[in-house]
This record gives sequence, C-alpha cells and structure tokens, in this order.
Amino acid sequence: MTSVIDPKTIGKPVRQRRHIRTLTGYTPETDASGKEKWPRGDETVWKTNMRGVDADVGDITKSVVNHVQTSLARQAYNLDNLGAYQAAALSVRDNMLVNWNETQLHYTRKAPKRAYYLSLEFLMGRTLDNALLNLDLKSQYKDGINQLGFSLEDLLEEERDAALGNGGLGRLAACYLDSSASQDLPVWGYGLRYKYGIFQQLISPEGNQLEAPDPWLDNQNPWELPRIDVNYEVRFYGQSERLSEGHGRALWTGGQEVLAVAYDVMIPGCNTRNTNNLRLWESKPKRGFDLNSFNAGNYEGAVESSNSAAAITSVLYPNDHTTFGKELRLKQQYFWTAASLADIIRRFKNLGKSINEFPDYVAIQLNDTHPTLAIPELMRILIDEEDLDWNFAWQIVTNVFFFTNHTVLPEALEKWPVPLMEHILPRHMQIIYDIKAVSNTNTFAARIFLQAVEKKFPGDRERLARMSLIEEGFPKQVRMANLACIGSRRINGVAELHSKLVQTTILKDFVEFFGVSKFGNVTNGITPRRWLDQCNPELSKLISSTLKIDKSVWLKDLYKLKDLVKYAADKGFRAEWAAIKQRNKERLAHHIETTLGFTVNTNAMFDVQIKRLHEYKRQTLNILGVIHRYLELKALTPALRKKVNPKVVFFAGKAAPAFFKTIRLIVNVARVINADPETKDYLSLYFLPDYSVSLAEVLIPASDISQHISTAGTEASGTSNMKFCLNGGLLVGTVDGANIEIAEEVGEENVFFFGHLTPAVEDLRYQHMYHPVPVDEACPPLANVLNQISGGLFGDGGVYEPLVNTIRQGDYYLVTDDFDSYIRALAMVDEAYLDRDEWVKKSICTTANMGKFSSDRAIMDYAQEYWNLEPIPVGKD
Ligand SMILES: *Cc1c(COP(=O)(O)O)cnc(C)c1O
Repeated sequence: MTSVIDPKTIGKPVRQRRHIRTLTGYTPETDASGKEKWPRGDETVWKTNMRGVDADVGDITKSVVNHVQTSLARQAYNLDNLGAYQAAALSVRDNMLVNWNETQLHYTRKAPKRAYYLSLEFLMGRTLDNALLNLDLKSQYKDGINQLGFSLEDLLEEERDAALGNGGLGRLAACYLDSSASQDLPVWGYGLRYKYGIFQQLISPEGNQLEAPDPWLDNQNPWELPRIDVNYEVRFYGQSERLSEGHGRALWTGGQEVLAVAYDVMIPGCNTRNTNNLRLWESKPKRGFDLNSFNAGNYEGAVESSNSAAAITSVLYPNDHTTFGKELRLKQQYFWTAASLADIIRRFKNLGKSINEFPDYVAIQLNDTHPTLAIPELMRILIDEEDLDWNFAWQIVTNVFFFTNHTVLPEALEKWPVPLMEHILPRHMQIIYDIKAVSNTNTFAARIFLQAVEKKFPGDRERLARMSLIEEGFPKQVRMANLACIGSRRINGVAELHSKLVQTTILKDFVEFFGVSKFGNVTNGITPRRWLDQCNPELSKLISSTLKIDKSVWLKDLYKLKDLVKYAADKGFRAEWAAIKQRNKERLAHHIETTLGFTVNTNAMFDVQIKRLHEYKRQTLNILGVIHRYLELKALTPALRKKVNPKVVFFAGKAAPAFFKTIRLIVNVARVINADPETKDYLSLYFLPDYSVSLAEVLIPASDISQHISTAGTEASGTSNMKFCLNGGLLVGTVDGANIEIAEEVGEENVFFFGHLTPAVEDLRYQHMYHPVPVDEACPPLANVLNQISGGLFGDGGVYEPLVNTIRQGDYYLVTDDFDSYIRALAMVDEAYLDRDEWVKKSICTTANMGKFSSDRAIMDYAQEYWNLEPIPVGKD
C-alpha cells in the first residue's frame, strides 16, 4: 500500500537546510590601504526611486548589502536565503516608500474624494514578486541578486504568504487593492493584523484535516510599517446613558478600553507611481502592564488585562466556526470598524471642511456584513461627539456607506444575539433600536425605518417582521444584512445572476421599499498582474511578443487580449501555447515531487478543483465522479483502457469541521486508486494540503480543465474560475455565478456546462423533501458509487455514512439530480481533449476573451457607479 501522504512533510513548509553563504559578486570599494569598504548607510548613497530601465543593478546590490549590514545587522559573509530575502525585500521596500510618500502627499494636496475598503479579510499572498513586477524592477533585481551569489527564485520561496483570509472574499479584497493602485484611485484598505492568519492545514495518514497555527509573523515582516503614533482607543462594555429624551445624545462610559495601533502595508500600482495603503489594526492594552498588581504579588492579574486586549487581533476566524469565540469575533468587528472610522474622520477633519460635507469626501465600502457596525458607530460619532441632530446624522450615514452582499445562503447571513450586543456595545444597541423604532413624533416618522415601511405597506405585519433589524426569538438577534441594507446608499451583488437573486430573494422586501435603483451588480474580477503575469511568466511573454505590445499596456487594458483570437489559427503559435501549458504542468509536478514526494504523470490531462471545501461547492460530486470513472476503468479490458484519456485529478482546499469527511474520502480514494496497477496510468488523484494563494499560483497555470460545479444559484460569483480561464484552462461547470458571464464572453462552445438551472432548484428540493425517490431508482450509477463507499472499498464505510446519507436523504445540494449530466459533461471533456488542436484553439480563445474579468474593470465600476471617485495619478499634473 502506498501512502498518499507523508505526515513528515505534508503541510509543513519544506525548507532546505540553512545554507550559510557569503555575498559574492559584489566587489566592495577599497580604500587607499587596500582595505575593503562595504557600503554603510551614512556614506553610500544610491537611488531609491528606481523604475524599469532606469534602475541600476549596481545601486540594487549596494542597497541590498546595506540592508544586510544595517537593517538585519548581519555580516555579508554570513547569510542564508532567508536573510538575503529579507534584505532584498527591504531594498524593494525603499523604492516603494518613495512612491508611497509621494502618493500620500499628492492625495493630501489634491484633497479628492477617497474611498475606503473595509474587509475583515485580505488574502494577500506573497509580496516580493508582485512588488518587483509592479515596479518593473524584476530583471534588474534578478541580476543584482545573482551578482551577490544568490538566486532570486530561491529568495521568492522564502516568503510566507500573508494569509489574512479564508478564501474568495479575502482574495477579492486583495485584487481590488492592486487594481485601485494600478488605476490611480485614492482607495485605502482597512483590516485587522491577525497574529495568526488562516490555519495551516495538515493531513493525517487517515485523511483527517489537522490544523496548525500559521506563524506568518515569526520572521520579521519586511512589508509592514508599524505606526506606533497612529493609535485610537476603543471601548467595550460599560454603560450608555441617554442625555436627552428620544434619540439624542448619550454618554457611554466605563467598561474596557483597548488601543488600536496601525500597521501600514504599501500597495504598489502597476506601471504608475501611485502606491496606496492597506492599514491593519493591532490591539494592545491601553495601559499595558499593571505594576500595582504585580507589586502586590499578583502576576496573573498583572498580565490579564494585557492578554485580553491582545486577544482581539490574535486569530482570524475560520469560516463557519460559528459558535466558537462569538464574543471575541464581535469584539474584533467593532474594534476594527471603530479604529478605521476614527482614522477616516481624523483625515477628513484635516481638510478643514464642515461635517456636512463628509459624504462628498468619503465613500466606505462594506465588504459583506462583517463591517456593518460601522453604520451605528458613525451614528454614534455624529450624534454623541459631533452633536448632530439624529435625522441629519442618518442622512450623512446613508450617503457614505456602500454594501456588497456575497451570499444568498440563508445560514450564512450574519446575526448577533441582542443580549451579547447589549453587553459589549450598549450604545450601539440603543442606536440600532433607534433606527428600528417607530417614533411618536411626526418629525421622525418619515425617516425612521419601520414606521416608513408601515406607511408604505400598511398592515403587512409579516413584511414588517421580515424587514426588521431585530429577529424575534430567544434570544432576539440583530440582522446585520438588514442593517447594512438600510444604512447604505447602494447595495451590490457580485455577478449578474447573484445580484438578481439577491434582489428577488433575501433583499426582495427592501427592493420593493427603496426601489430597484438602490441595487446593482458589480461582477467580481481578478488582477491580471498576479494571476497571469506573475504566476505564468512564459505565457505573459508570449502574449506581449505576439501582440507586439508591452505588457504594461495589456495588463492594464485586458480587453487587448482579444487580438489573440486571430492567432488561434496559427499552427506555430498554437504549438508555443501548448508547450507553455506543458511546462507549467511540469513545474507543478516538480513542486509536488519536491514537497510531497509523488511523481505525477505529466502526459495526462490535469483536472483541478481548488477552493474552500463546502457542501454547496460540491467537491462530493467531483469525488463521486472520480470513483465512477475508476469503476468504469476497472470494468474495461486492458486493450480498451489504452484508448482512455489519462487524467490526473487535483483537489486542494481548507475545510470547516462539517466538511472534514469529504477530505477524508478524497484522501482514501486517492490511496486506493493511485495504487491500483490496472488503472493508475489512466487515473490518479491528489489532495494537496494547505491550499493558499502561492499554491494556487502553481496549480492554475498547469490546469487543462477546472471544476466550478456548485448547485445552481449557490455560488455568488467565484473568482478561481476567472483565474483558470485567464491562463487558458477550460472550465466544466454549472450555470452559476460568474461561470455564466465567462461563457458569454468566451463562447458557450468553449465551456462545458451541465446540471439543472437555478429556477429548477427549488422544485427539486421540494421533491426530495416530500416525494423522495431512492437513489437506486433516481440514478443507478450514483447508487453504485455510494454502495461501493458504504461497502468499504475506501476503508471503513461507516466513516462515510453521514456524508453518503446527505445524498441518500434530502440531498439539499442535488448531487443525484446533476450526476448523470455531470458524467456526460466529463465525457465531452475527454472527447474534446483528444482533438488537441481544437482544444488548444479553445484555450487560446478563452484567454483572449477574459478582458471583462480584470479587477480593474470591477474597481472602475465601483469608482464610477458607486463611489463617484476620480483617478488621481501621481506625477502627471
Ligand atoms: C481565488 C481564490 C479563492 C476563491 O476560489 P473560488 O473557487 O472562487 O471559491 C480561494 N482561495 C484562494 C487562495 C484563492 O486564490
């Protein structure tokens, strides 16, 4: 039995032994006596605002050597890759800093309207490669690092991902930052500086997900600038005492005060000097160490308050861990929104404008409901601190915020128990009740929400209950989506279908109340800098040389790729295109070989599904399809098997506990089929642990086909579908999320669609519920697969009973209904792949038509249709 995983290596960063070396190539100047003079900060000057061809390799090596000696306090003859990486990063950072300072000065002088992107997650990945490319300094640094006796490729591998996010939502925020800077938009991100980002995933020999903390800050992080002087006090608990009748001011006192300290991360734009900022908050005790307790012999008491303050930003919560740490999560949300708003208001006040003008200078985007507390928090500031009238304050608030909804799954809609909210944020609970309240006085009547609803839809009690900010029950709960919806100027979904579903399902009442013009769509996008130029440099080069335009042009105007279509007829071009895909497959195989020790068959088709594990994303459908393929292969004669299109299936993704069993099944199926001598040349399967941005960057360019197979109507958009298609991978998917718009752009003939459509889903679920048909009757091939699992083909069948039973009973995500058509779609993929020429044409046409899915287009949509924001290019006026 070959083990699919080696617990010694899986999930751990594979680090070569520390190789201590001497910086070579750099020849120090010598003084009169022949003594070597290494550069030192005080005596050597080099340029730090270098860019592209202007950059001097000599300046680069000097700056790196300087950082080794001064910033790192290490000697030039005593350096490993990690040290060299850090010095190189600091040197690149110097270049960014010059631009960053200039950008902030320029924005301050021009005083434009600014937008702030509030996201609890920023899944940034690595920075060095991205910064070098955006600054157009990569080849110069490559040479410089080479001269110093190191390899840039090795140094890039030293960097840990900044994994301050779970998945798509956090990665979207990161893409939007890149696009804002690249499009010269004055946009800042605000988030939290978690000490531990998303957990590291390890897989045990049995196939269980194990979780280890992600110590991304263990080595010093060269990309952040601590701003000890930028800090705000944030209050929790205490009492809120109203100072006047009705909805006037209140005094919130007592409780716990915590300090929010800023860390800035520079966001360089591509081919522009504009360098924006991502400000991340860290929590700290306000008073630090309690010396009195300590002196009284109470050491634990002395550190207690400091520990509880630090705990606020200690971990990023994994998705779906709903019960765990609820109180802490609410504290995180408030801590972050309060610090961010205080910072935004301080910056606005520096303009010397009256507070009425706040919405003319500030737009705040709420990425999902996580930052919704910003709405009552801004009310609190305007009423309690700025002494504004309630109505006036509400008018300002509802012109500042914009809300992006990311899900229509009812269980994913955020709610907070009223008692918890009352305890932690007593003043905010009052304000939420004020927004909800039906006032006695007529002046309030028009503005106050439920009363206005009552007026528009008299007597419609159920509607009132649905739209209320408070859900009745034990305990009562605050509905964050409702609050975000009524407190925002506009609301958007993230793909055409999703935005329509939002308007016709979860927010239908609000559409009827406010009118449809308050609701819109901004289809998600991805940055082509990271997701093509950086992750697939060979393809990027081929595109530039074929189109005869510099990449800095097409990377910022992705519709230019359209001209590639005409080269699909060119045999030589197709050969180059296919050869690059092949080399990317070999690059992935090499990565797997060195990290996991498996030899992957690179002559096979690579079929990839990488995303968070979730029932609605239907990794189960995929693995059941793999088993089905395996059983079919087993039934063939050896001669017939030889005619089958060989395939390697890759999975990666982290899971919440509810979906651990799916990983376990994948790993155990892999163990069986990879070891089967009859079939292993035709089908193999790998679960790659610890999915991350960096792993995605290796997997995506290597994919021939990728799977985006959510039950119709459940995937809001998806963005990995865009990443694959941009890299010439084809897509097998359901008619869901952005798959639909991708097919509209690249042509339906280039997408393998299957499955029931959204309008059918509700009926099918009803059928499963009230007129269930056993799987044996509804779909015999699927029943056979399930029986093999239960029968123990992949180890103890009992382990998988809960998983298998979600399909046999209820089948909420309609695996049974879509199975046949899924298998047919995969057969069509096989058939298409056999005609390799046609396949490569499809691949080229797919990449060529992905212009719409640049996050530059998406961010400009937000700027124009939502924020009313203008580009403010640095150095152009
Ligand atoms: C793009 C991306 C995602 C989102 O993937 P979907 O398939 O759209 O859910 C999640 N995680 C990482 C690391 C990504 O790069």
